[in-house]
Parts: sequence; structure tokens; C-alpha cells
Amino acid sequence: MINFFDFSPKNFGSFIYQRKKNPLMLFFEKISEKAIKTEQLEDYLNFMLSEILSLIQADYASVLIYDPSEKDLRLFLSAGHPGNPDTNRISIDEGIAGRVFKTGRPLLITESTQIPEEFKPRRWNSGESFISYPLKIAGKKIGVINLSRFSGNIPFGKYEKELMAGIQGHIASALEKQRLTEDLSRKNSQLELANNLTRILHSGGDFKKTINKFCVEFAKYTGLNELSVFKINPNFEQSLIPDIIASHNLDENTLNQALSQFKTDLFSSFKLSKNELSKTSKSEMPVFSLGEKGSGTIHFFYLPIKDLKSDLHFLIIRFQKELYDLEYEKSLFSLIKMLIGEFSIAIEREMMISRIQHDQQVLLESAYQNGIYLEISKELASSLDPRIVLKKAFEKFNKLISYSTVSILLFDDLEKSYQVIVQPDMELSKTFISELKKSLTEIFSEFPAAIPLDSPKNIKMEIFTPHRSDLSKLNHCKHVLYIPIILENDIRGMIHLSREKSPKFTSRDFDITSQFIGIFLTSIKNAMIHRKTEKLAFTDPLTSLYNHRFFQETLAEEFIRAKRYSKPLSLMILDIDHFKIFNDTWGHIVGDKVLIHSAEIFQHSLREKIDVVARYGGEEFAVILPETSIDGAKVFAERIRHRMEECPLELNQKSLKVTISIGIASTAIPHLEKPSELIEAADKALYEAKNSGRNRVVLYEVNQNKK
Ligand code: GH3
Ligand code: MG
Ligand code: MG
Repeated sequence: MINFFDFSPKNFGSFIYQRKKNPLMLFFEKISEKAIKTEQLEDYLNFMLSEILSLIQADYASVLIYDPSEKDLRLFLSAGHPGNPDTNRISIDEGIAGRVFKTGRPLLITESTQIPEEFKPRRWNSGESFISYPLKIAGKKIGVINLSRFSGNIPFGKYEKELMAGIQGHIASALEKQRLTEDLSRKNSQLELANNLTRILHSGGDFKKTINKFCVEFAKYTGLNELSVFKINPNFEQSLIPDIIASHNLDENTLNQALSQFKTDLFSSFKLSKNELSKTSKSEMPVFSLGEKGSGTIHFFYLPIKDLKSDLHFLIIRFQKELYDLEYEKSLFSLIKMLIGEFSIAIEREMMISRIQHDQQVLLESAYQNGIYLEISKELASSLDPRIVLKKAFEKFNKLISYSTVSILLFDDLEKSYQVIVQPDMELSKTFISELKKSLTEIFSEFPAAIPLDSPKNIKMEIFTPHRSDLSKLNHCKHVLYIPIILENDIRGMIHLSREKSPKFTSRDFDITSQFIGIFLTSIKNAMIHRKTEKLAFTDPLTSLYNHRFFQETLAEEFIRAKRYSKPLSLMILDIDHFKIFNDTWGHIVGDKVLIHSAEIFQHSLREKIDVVARYGGEEFAVILPETSIDGAKVFAERIRHRMEECPLELNQKSLKVTISIGIASTAIPHLEKPSELIEAADKALYEAKNSGRNRVVLYEVNQNKK
């Protein structure tokens, strides 16, 4: 028979008074006495349960408490149980207790009762009678009390059920008190622990040390002594290499195992984006059983950190399952959840600090760079010679960037050719030099340059003294960096850096080099313009030879030098024979062409950069020959004279033969004390050459002076 019935406490009051010293009165007396004596609420509850057993004369009693978070009933107390309960958790959807809790109505089951299928009793022995009574406080259901009488005894009846109605409120309030106390003390200790751990997290100092200290403390208080913190960048799905920030007792093997499992899980089945992750609850985060049986489960906790680099941070903890009951585990989870926020803040703050430090470093570095750039600018302003400018600039540039060579390739407007200036760090081998030329040509040919550079032969190379004076020579380079140089909207050259060994050039090197070009480019331009104007001031526009003024200045300098160092200095004056006839016969334009033609022959017959060829005036030319004796000068002069004879000016199918007369004088002749006297002497020799039949070379001799 199934017998649900209602009970009202006021009915029960009269019931108590009807029977003096009845068992219920005794029960209340006993437990009140116990309540005064007992300090531990748990002892009191156990005492109460055993008193219930004797009051109801039950063989077995158990109290199940409802757990709202798990939505199930938890075995809280039991007395006289025939064996260990097979589980301490019961779903509210199964068994008699579940049914009673759900309906909130008590149930009496006796031998005669047919238990319907839907009750799904978990345990039932023939002959046993059973009372399941809901425990309520202020209308709120908090659990169920089960009582049973084994077979052989008189089954429970209405009387026992009424007794239960009388004491259920009392049991419920005692239990609730116990639950609240437990809850409070757990919360208190959790709060205290959370406080301590948080304090550690925010204590500052070395971050890794802090995290480690946190792990140690966390382990000490929770017993969870295997944990680690790591980050991972999910954008590199294929090569997820976790960066372990701190690890405590979690051996590398286990960690790697967990991580590889985690990666597959997270990015194949979970496919979590960062936003999704932050929403993920504990139960949705991956959990793995690892290692040997009983070694526990690994739990991953996502740390919601705002990371610019979009790394994901995780805390991973191994739970040694057998060590904890579910209640404790649950409280640990709530503690961890609480700490995760603090953890995230600590990591975020740490990232911010390192970002600030990095920014400061960048600022300091750029201040240093600016200092060097300023030095370079100053050096650049100090000279107008592009070579000196570059030499100085390279020295400063070397403070900002390390290189084996730095080369500046530029088109020289005056020379009408590409020139490269190389600043090596160390001596260069011959092979390296030719390789460098080749590679510069190859690289540069790729640029859409205004004037193409097609062969290494077309580069004039100048190599500065190396920064270092090692004995070894540079044979090859591993890394290069090059940037084109743009002048007046045209690619006019490039800067090229090489490195013998690592590190590779970086984008920072690129920036520094670009800035360097920017600074010296203006100076190079100025120096070029200056050189151009300077050259114009000393150049004869018709023949492009030096003009009379330059000749006079150079002769004066060379004269002093020759006297000071007692070195011979020779001077030739050349005059085209019967030049007037060219003008008269073919006109002045042809006359001019004869002058240009002669100038080219002179220039190509002499020593480049040593001898100075100038147009002295009209159809007369002068050549200064430093460190050359009069006999040496004669050899040069004869060569010129001969070439003039051999190379007529080819013009409109006409072949115009041009001859010259040359007079030579030298400082070796004792009485020539001034440049003007040297000129005069050479002039005299020329006069002699003219007089003696033209197309010849005459040396000035002392006796000529006497004539
Ligand atoms: P000699 O063999 O004696 O030197 O005879 P010459 O005709 O060369 O000498 P002369 O001094 O009699 O004539 C030089 C001429 O050169 C006179 C002048 O008109 C001409 N001349 C001077 N400067 C220039 C010039 O820039 N262009 C041209 N076309 N003719 C010039
Ligand atoms: Mg003349
Ligand atoms: Mg002449």
C-alpha cells in the first residue's frame, strides 16, 4: 500500500500531550541535553540520528542533503547501515528518496506495497519496510530522511510516520545550521587562501619567480601540487609551441603529453576562438586522464588576458582524484575560478610592464641613434670633399650597425661613370673585391636606374682603409642589405651592406640605413654641386682642359713643392703650327675642332691625375709635369708630337693634319727661381722650336737665355 498523507504540526502537539513521557518527549529532552553539551555540530547530528533510530525503532537511517549546484542528493549521515553505501550521490530522478524529494511528500512502504516501476528503487529487500520523509525548512526542501526496518520486524505504520512528521522540522533546521556553518568556514578559509595567493601575485618583483611562488603556496594549501602556467599562440596552428611561464612539480613529460593532447583537442574538436574560450566554463574546458591509472586528471583553465599578440594563457593543474571527495573538488574549482581573475590581472600587468620597458628601450635606442645622426650631420657639414664626407660618415654609421662592408655606388656626373666607395670593416681579399663588384652590378641592374650599369668593368672602385687592422682577410659574406639611392627622382646609386656571418639584417637595420642615406644624401649633393662649380671655375669650356687661372695656381703650388723637396718639375708649352691657316681656310668652327682634337690627344698622352694639362690661351697649351726631369719631359713631349702627326682630324671626309711645336723648361735649371721664369724659359724653347722649322721639341738651355 502506498500511503501519502498530509501532516500538520498542530495536530501533533495534542498528540504529545496525550501521552505523558512519551518517546517523542524523551527524544526532545535527550537531544536538547546533547545540544547543550556538544561543541561539534557533527557529533550532535550523529547523536540525533541514533536517537531517531531508537525513537522510530528503525534498523537503519540515512539523511540525504540536496545539492543545488549538482542538482542531486548527497548522503550526509547514516546510522545502522547494513554495509557501506555503494554511492554517496543519488539523482533526484531515481529511487524512492529522489521521488520523495521531488514531490515533497513522505512515503511509507511496507511488504504489501507494490512499488511502481517509475520509482526505480535502488535497493529493496523482501520483508523490509521503509519510510522516506522530506526535510523542509520554511517551505524549502533541503533533503530526505530514509528509515527502514528489516524483515522479521513489525513493518512501519502510520504511528512512525506521524512521529517523523513531528521531528522532521527539527532535523531539517539542525542540518541547515550544519550546512551553513560548513559553508561559512569553507568560504572563510577559501577567502583567506585566495587573499594570500592574490597578495603573492601582486607582490611585484621578478614575474617568473612570483608565479612560481604562487604555485608553491597554492600547492601547499590545496594539496594540488602539480601545476603550471603556459601560453600558446593559436594562429600558428600547425606548430603550436607552448611557452611555459612557470611550472611547479609538473614534469616535462607529463606536461608535453598534456599539451599535445590539449592542442589536438582544442584546435580540432573545440576549434575555439579567443572569445569562445573566455565564455567556456570549467566543464567545457578539456580535461584529460594521463599517465598510469590513478595518477589523476589534468585540468586546463583558460586565463582571460587581453594580449596584443593574441596569445592564449592557461593554467593547468593535475587533480589526484582519489585524494579528494567531490565536495572538496568543487570548492577547489570555485577557488581556482576566483584566482583565475587575479592571475589574469597579474599576467596582464606583467605584460604591460614589459611593454613599457620595451618602449623605453626603443626610446633610449632612438635617442642614441639620433645622437649619432647628429654627429654624422656635423661631420658631413665639415667638408665639401665627398670622399672625406663619406669616410667620416661611415665611421659614425659603424656605431649604429655592424657590417663587414658598406658600399656606396653612385653615378658621378663629372666622370660620367659609376663609382663605388667601399668601407670595409677588415681587409678585403682580391676574390671578395671582384665578387663584390659583380654582385653590386647584378643587384643594381635590377633597379630601373636612369643610367644603366651593365658590367662590373664600368665601376670605378675606391676602397677605404678598414676600420679594423686585423691580419685576416674577408673572403665572403653571408648576408646583404641594399637600398637604392634616389637623386632628383632618378635612381642614381645604392647603398649596400654585407655581413660575413649572422645575425641577418633586420628591418631595424633597414630603417637605420635608410635614415643614414637620408642624412648624407644632402651632403653628397652639396659636395657634388660644389665640385661641379669648382671644376667649372677652373675649366676651359671649349676643350674641358684646365684654364689659365688653374694652370697658374697649380704651377705656383708645384713650384714651391719642387723647390722644397728638391724634386724636378718640368713645364711644356705647346703651340699648334700655322693654326691661323686652319681658321682662314676652313673657318673658326673647324679651328675650334682642331683645338678640341689636340686637347684630347694631349690628355690621353699624359699621366692621369699627375700631369696637369691646361689651355694656356688661344692655340697654346701648357703641361705641368711634377717630379719629372727635363729628359723625362722630352720623352712625353715627343710622344705627344708624334701622336699629333699620326692622328689627323677626320672631318667631312677631309683629313686635317695638325702638328705642334713644344718648348720645355725645368726647375733643375739653377737660375729659374720663380714660376714666371719657368714659363718664360719654356716659351723661349718654344720660340726656338718655331724658328727651327716647327713640329719639333726643344729643351730650354741656359745658353738660349743668353741669346
Ligand atoms: P705659328 O705656327 O707661328 O704658331 O703660327 P700660327 O698661325 O699658329 O700663329 P698665330 O699666333 O699667328 O695665330 C694664332 C691664331 O689663333 C690667331 C687667332 O685668331 C687664332 N685663335 C686664337 N684663339 C682661337 C680660338 O679659340 N678659336 C679659333 N678658331 N681660333 C683662335
Ligand atoms: Mg701662337
Ligand atoms: Mg701657332
